[in-house]
Amino acid sequence: MAEQTRAAVEDVQKAARAWDQDQLECRMYGHSWRPMSARRDHAVNLIKAVYECYRCGTERHQELNGRTGHVYAQWYVYGPDYLMKGLGRITGDGRDVLRLETITRTFNVKRGKLDPHSKATKEAIDTPSNVTPIAQAS
Ligand SMILES: [Zn+2]
Repeated sequence: MAEQTRAAVEDVQKAARAWDQDQLECRMYGHSWRPMSARRDHAVNLIKAVYECYRCGTERHQELNGRTGHVYAQWYVYGPDYLMKGLGRITGDGRDVLRLETITRTFNVKRGKLDPHSKATKEAIDTPSNVTPIAQAS
């Protein structure tokens, strides 16, 4: 498998703002599959199945053993706007950017006092150096 580069935080930020709500949700929560079609070849015990994402239209294709259900191969067919060429894999800080964009766009985030539930959250907000603005994150 070809090595994939990590997406730069600034690039994820730019891309996330350009994605429509469906694309953003699929990247954040994963695709939401519905079964489209399946075909079986009894001679070789092979089933080919196709699923489609409700939100973004991406297709998931599978070739599987018609007797055991074991998946031999799986691949995706994306719509023209889904993949950002050269963006790289969205991990770590990039996932944070994606989460923030999704939450601020999806919810009507209300202002108000919050009591941290966990010790980790309390420690993080009590230590200003732990709260690094995304633009300064490396
Ligand atoms: Zn999707």
